[in-house]
Amino acid sequence: MSEFAVIGLGRFGISVARHLGRQGASVLAIDMDQDLVDAAAPEVDLALRADATDERTLEELQLASMSCVVVAIGAHSIEASILTTALAKQVGVPRIVARAMGDLHARVLRAVGADEVINPEEEMGRRLAARLVEPSILEQVELGGSQLAEVEAPESFVGKDLVGSDIRNRYRVSVMAIQRGEEVIANPRPTEVIQTGDVLVVVGSLESIRRVASLA
Ligand code: ATP
Repeated sequence: MSEFAVIGLGRFGISVARHLGRQGASVLAIDMDQDLVDAAAPEVDLALRADATDERTLEELQLASMSCVVVAIGAHSIEASILTTALAKQVGVPRIVARAMGDLHARVLRAVGADEVINPEEEMGRRLAARLVEPSILEQVELGGSQLAEVEAPESFVGKDLVGSDIRNRYRVSVMAIQRGEEVIANPRPTEVIQTGDVLVVVGSLESIRRVASLA
C-alpha cells in the first residue's frame, strides 16, 4: 500500500486526500487549522494539526519514509508552500508534488525540490475551455508532441469496423481503445465494429483529433 502525505487541507488538498483514501492508499493529512483536520479525519488514516514550515515537525512526521508528499497549500500562503516544499526535499521525501498558483511560483517550487508541479485552477480552466470549444472531445492530455484524447464516435463511423472507417489513413489518428458503456476494449482489433455511443480513445495531432471530433 502506498503511503502519502497531503499538506494543506483546503478544497484542493482535502479532495486529493479523500480520493487517495478511496483508492486504498494510506494517507496522512496535515493542516494548521484544527477544524480542517477534524473534517479530514474520517476520510484518511491519520489527520494531524501541524505547521509544515517547522523543520522539526517534518522530521518527526518521518515524511522521508512516505512514497509521496503532496504540498497542497494554496494562494493564501505561497511562502509556506515554498518553505514546506524545500523542507520536504531537505528531509529526504522521495517524491514531492507541489501546487503552484502561477508560473513564477511553479519555477520556484521546482528550484527548491518539487518533482512535479501542478496548477489545478489553470488545468481545469484549460480543460473546460477545450471542452467548450469542442464538446465531442471528452478528455485530452498531451503526450509528447501528440495528444491522447477521448472522442465521441462520429455517427458516420457507426456500423463500420476500424478498417472500414479508415480512421488511421484518412484522419491520421490511431484508436488505442474503445469505451463502450462500462466496458473498455483495449487494443481493439481492426474488425471491431463501432457502435452508437462508443467513445474512441485516440492518439494523434491536435488538428487531426479535431477533424475526427468535428464529424460527431
Ligand atoms: P483551496 O483552493 O485548496 O481551498 P486556498 O487557495 O484557499 O486553498 P490556502 O488557504 O492558502 O489555499 O491553503 C490551503 C490550506 O493550507 C489551508 O487550509 C491552510 O490552513 C493550510 N496551510 C497553510 N500554511 C500551512 C502550514 N504552514 N502548515 C500546514 N498547513 C498550512
